[in-house]
Amino acid sequence: MSFAASVLTLYPEMFPGALGLSLAGRALEAGTWSLEAIQIRDFATDKHRTVDDTPAGGGAGMVMRADVLAKAIDHASPPGDKRPRLLMSPRGKPLTQARVRALAAGPGAVILCGRFEGVDQRLIEARGLEEVSIGDFILSGGEPAALVLLDAVVRLLPGVMGNAVSGEEESFENGLLEHPHYTRPQEFEGRPIPDVLISGNHKKIAEWRRAEAEKLTRERRPDLLRAAQPLVK
Ligand code: SAH
Repeated sequence: MSFAASVLTLYPEMFPGALGLSLAGRALEAGTWSLEAIQIRDFATDKHRTVDDTPAGGGAGMVMRADVLAKAIDHASPPGDKRPRLLMSPRGKPLTQARVRALAAGPGAVILCGRFEGVDQRLIEARGLEEVSIGDFILSGGEPAALVLLDAVVRLLPGVMGNAVSGEEESFENGLLEHPHYTRPQEFEGRPIPDVLISGNHKKIAEWRRAEAEKLTRERRPDLLRAAQPLVK
């Protein structure tokens, strides 16, 4: 069973984009996942193929119309489709590695990319869209966010990453940021590789990496430590 992504967008030319190259691109060619980019404008009903209109209540910008988007979603995701329907949105729940992992274990995703000021609220409610954010900043459209989400999901699909172990040891998988990495040359601009890493003592190396990971996480992301290890009384 392969992961099926359907992306609803005003810019289907943005897909597969970066996901057509490297690991994700090879997996796409191999059929490990599939990608369908659907032009929302094809579901407009007037002769100008209008997808947006002015905001009710006034104000700047334009809002994507619920009726046009509903038609596009119903085409991409007919009744019985088990895939979650996501709306890329800065108001959404921030994307986490746990959510990425859950998506990768499922049948795929239907992903709506917003443009302009966003989409009519009634569409979100009527089609049960899950709003997903990729961070506390504003993009000009949902397409780069969808590419980010799919990149994170696809690399977890079976067979996509050559070395499966490296996936499990990465940042966030154990609630910690990852330890620093080194490779040859042994000395770079007067900076040697830490002795322990060339000691050949695997137990010591593991302890050092764990300690570095904890130190880094404490310094940069204490919120992760709190989430990973709730205080035990
Ligand atoms: N007026 C909105 C921002 C609209 S940005 C607000 O203030 O909340 C236009 C589109 O870009 C959004 O509809 C969404 O699909 C996408 N987008 C922008 N920032 C995003 C983010 N951080 N995560 C996911 N999608 C984002």
